[in-house]
Amino acid sequence: MSEKGNTLTPVRFRPHHFLCANGFQGKGYSSSFVENFSAIVDRLRGPAGGEIPFVIVEETDDICHPCPHRRGKKCSKQILIDSLDKRHASVLDLKVGQKLTWGEAQQKIIKYVTDDIFQEICHGCFWQKEGMCLKALRNLRP
Ligand code: SF4
Repeated sequence: MSEKGNTLTPVRFRPHHFLCANGFQGKGYSSSFVENFSAIVDRLRGPAGGEIPFVIVEETDDICHPCPHRRGKKCSKQILIDSLDKRHASVLDLKVGQKLTWGEAQQKIIKYVTDDIFQEICHGCFWQKEGMCLKALRNLRP
């Protein structure tokens, strides 16, 4: 993300990455992937993080960029990724091109993602069994 004058350029996220960013704990597919993800998450968890703007995209995003599984604008696990995006977009009511802030995305997560729904929409993800995403989801709730 960069700043142009007073306007923040929105972070580009595919639908399933909002929940991933909420649960991120420094684990990932390579050192450059983790470094990039950490830089984004540090801003979200910092002062005024809730005001950071996002735009929903349907292909590779600002998290995917340095990923070793990226293949151009696609992923080497594209079928799984498409499925995760479809499930998360449906539950969080997200559309491609939609703009929202991190705070608004967090409110959607709190409102729509129960523990059971988390198990359904993240089914198939390698990281689900690690437990940090569910723990962070529970910690997000008031
Ligand atoms: S289980 Fe996977 S898809 Fe779900 S929030 Fe965690 S990293 Fe993201």
